[in-house]
Amino acid sequence: MPRVLLLLPTTSYRAADFLEAAARVGAEVVVASEESNALSSLNPDGLLALDFRDPAACASRAAAFARTRPIDAVVGVDEDTAVAAAAIGAALGLPHNAVEAVEAARNKALMRQRLAEAGVPAPRHRLLSIREDPSRVAKGVEYPCVLKPTFLAASRGVIRADGEAEFVAAWRRIAGILADPEVARRGAGAAREILVEAFIPGAEVALEGLLDAGRLGVLAIFDKPDPLDGPYFEETIYVTPSRMSEETQKGIAAAAGRAAAALGLSDGPVHAELRVEGEGVWVIEIAARSIGGLCSRTLRFGTGMSLEELILRHSLGMEVAPAREHAASGVMMIPIPKGGLLERVDGLESARRVPGISEILISAHLGQRIVPLPEGSRYLGFLFARGATPELVEGALREAHSRLGFVIRD
Ligand code: ADP
Ligand code: CA
Ligand code: CA
Repeated sequence: MPRVLLLLPTTSYRAADFLEAAARVGAEVVVASEESNALSSLNPDGLLALDFRDPAACASRAAAFARTRPIDAVVGVDEDTAVAAAAIGAALGLPHNAVEAVEAARNKALMRQRLAEAGVPAPRHRLLSIREDPSRVAKGVEYPCVLKPTFLAASRGVIRADGEAEFVAAWRRIAGILADPEVARRGAGAAREILVEAFIPGAEVALEGLLDAGRLGVLAIFDKPDPLDGPYFEETIYVTPSRMSEETQKGIAAAAGRAAAALGLSDGPVHAELRVEGEGVWVIEIAARSIGGLCSRTLRFGTGMSLEELILRHSLGMEVAPAREHAASGVMMIPIPKGGLLERVDGLESARRVPGISEILISAHLGQRIVPLPEGSRYLGFLFARGATPELVEGALREAHSRLGFVIRD
């Protein structure tokens, strides 16, 4: 039985899906997470505590472990584990991305620099220190622009500004997020930087891909039919297949491939976000991981293979059948309408009865304090739909969402 080392942060939504996939692949899993948990004394061969922020230490721990329990593949499930996965892959002589490539994918400033050097169409950018005076910086910026931290995800702290006053307000708000002790600790030096970019208008898509020896295979292109014009950029609906023209989709795939090459990514899943404006395709970002949250549940390949299974099989050098099923499929990440304590969720029964809805999952807990963008980073939950066409899927998601009521107390 092949053995896979799965780097799985304790906060990941994806544990169950990856473990189920491993069972179907017929692989033994060693789970590495940040803390040794209660089970590690019961099953010391199946669990490993790793500090993902220290990739070199991860690599030497994994190498020591592998001396008695050989490891055939290493998979990081998200961005926080991608650098450690690359370092471990290098140490164990397994297929892996270059550590520098994954580091560049994780840091928005480095990524912008690499894309610009390679001539990949991407927004113009400037990296600034939070010690600068925002009202002075604001005078030298072209509007509209987007301000963002360099190392956060899920649109956390990403804010559009149309003029100097909005720029200064956005800057202060991001500085507040970066001052959060947990964020500051995680970001280290990057928590003292703000990236300012030209705002790229247009429709946004997400591309899910798998790199094999540097070649990008496209697994799916998702349309994001809700306008993402700011000032905050809440992810909501993803629907695949894309309704963009075949020509445009080729352009999207080509741009994502160039972005991966510019960063030096060569192996495993990538998730790219791009904007399409007229003939132009712009790279917003490319991450060395698969799609986040529970959104991978929208995807089925060949005769029913999950994305997690496909990723594990690829990591083990097994054959994969990357043709997505024929049906249209989509997800809505349920946005947080306002901050407060989530008291009650109404209308679930009725929403589940909407034709085309396949699953509704409320991931926030009742009684939990929920925080909207730009400070927040989680969703209320996920709605899934499948159907004959992308239009039907999008319609089902909107109808089901309209039947839900979230009672949030201040
Ligand atoms: P994150 O890693 O948090 O997802 P992104 O840089 O991808 O951060 O930004 C989140 C969203 O904000 C993007 O999906 C896009 O909709 C919007 N956005 C970010 N940068 C730009 C930009 N330069 N122009 C237009 N929209 C942008
Ligand atoms: Ca990102
Ligand atoms: Ca993004």
